[in-house]
Amino acid sequence: MLQENSSAEKVRCLIIGSGPSGYTAAIYAARANLSPVLYQGIQPGGQLTSTTEVENYPGYPDGIQGPEMMIDFEKQAKRMGTDIRYGIATKVDFSAQPHKVWIDDDKMIEADAVIISTGASAKWLGLPSEEKYNGFGVSACAVCDGFFFRGKDVAIVGAGDTAAEEALYLSKLCTTVSMIVRRDEMRASKVMQERVLNTPNIRVYFNHETEEILGDGKTVNGVRIYNNKTNEKTVIAISGFFVAIGHHPNSDIFQSYLHTDETGYIKTLPGTAKTNVEGVFAAGDVQDKHYRQAVTAAGSGCMAALDAERYLSAK
Ligand code: NDP
Repeated sequence: MLQENSSAEKVRCLIIGSGPSGYTAAIYAARANLSPVLYQGIQPGGQLTSTTEVENYPGYPDGIQGPEMMIDFEKQAKRMGTDIRYGIATKVDFSAQPHKVWIDDDKMIEADAVIISTGASAKWLGLPSEEKYNGFGVSACAVCDGFFFRGKDVAIVGAGDTAAEEALYLSKLCTTVSMIVRRDEMRASKVMQERVLNTPNIRVYFNHETEEILGDGKTVNGVRIYNNKTNEKTVIAISGFFVAIGHHPNSDIFQSYLHTDETGYIKTLPGTAKTNVEGVFAAGDVQDKHYRQAVTAAGSGCMAALDAERYLSAK
């Protein structure tokens, strides 16, 4: 419940979110003397904290673990003078300047410029059994939870690069990995597909969908899948079920003020980080459904800080 008498604080530049885009925006905003305050959100460090090795971020010739990379980003933002805080933006009012953002339903921040870098979150299949066993054998993060299934049989649903990456990760920990792919081909890049198909303990079930995750009431012990061409059903005994079917943008609280596309991605003016509201900028995955890379997110965070700086100087 939002409290009417919430305590207010005035800041010049507020950054919401702590992935590559938020931290990069913070580095640039701090160096431009905007005294940025950054709220980290539900998952400090963002999606890269639940990935393994990042091999495609320039500047790390030997690759780096995602969580380590985000610690580096945070340290750099802090060293430049960013005020980094733990807290979640739960409500906004962008109807007038200064813009208002409520943190944890309580503290109200008034900001001259707001940079939204809230990223995107995992999608779920929407099965009741998935919800029932979430945290008890069902997970959307192999890197976070794979450890609990060492030496066991698991399944993963999805066919993109994330699913392929997570299937490979699980194949090193688990006895078998059943990969459930709804079409007759994967969406993942060719190199990832080849790695999956050449891993002996990964079995790919093409043209299959999940009907039910099975369990004993407490934990998962199987999954029932069906062939969407023949309708034939198969039950696989598993202890863990991983969902890797993509993400949706974390833009819900902004939707009544900002223009978004039909799937919720915030629209920015082409070639800028500007939204339709003056003084509100968006960067990273919350406004990008095409590239979604750490390096493109960082680049757009830089753009957002530069746009915010120019906006504040002109004001
Ligand atoms: P994607 O949107 O690329 O893939 C989602 C996958 O889930 C698709 O194969 C889709 O199937 C499947 N799917 C969606 N809904 C369902 C459902 N209800 N039931 C079964 N399957 C479903 O998401 P990712 O998270 O894999 O990747 C996001 C972006 O990040 C991509 O651009 C990717 O390339 C990139 N990425 C890059 C990495 C790297 O470079 N190291 C690592 C991880 C991600 P269908 O194909 O039939 O639509």
